[in-house]
Amino acid sequence: MPRCTSSVNYQTETATMSELICNGCFSLVLYNRGAANVRCSGCNRVNSTRSASQIAHLTCGRCRTTLMYPPGASTVGCANCQHVNPVRTQGSSAPPAMSMHV
Ligand SMILES: [Zn+2]
Ligand SMILES: [Zn+2]
Repeated sequence: MPRCTSSVNYQTETATMSELICNGCFSLVLYNRGAANVRCSGCNRVNSTRSASQIAHLTCGRCRTTLMYPPGASTVGCANCQHVNPVRTQGSSAPPAMSMHV
């Protein structure tokens, strides 16, 4: 049975870009999905794209700006209004904490 060997997908420069948050300076870094590591242009830190493949999104509680933050962050400071947003873990199996202490 003839097997098609022409299915090599060359990397197109348009749809293969992804993004991560630099572990050093927390700035947004664009990289090619095929890359295993990406160097931040801001602080020259080499970030592994495997561990940083998930970027969480958060809407600022004050100005409604969409913020991006690395997984594991507890608070996210808004670059627009300087509001510090607490990160709530979603979709996890964490026990329901209904304590609403202000
Ligand atoms: Zn950086
Ligand atoms: Zn804001």
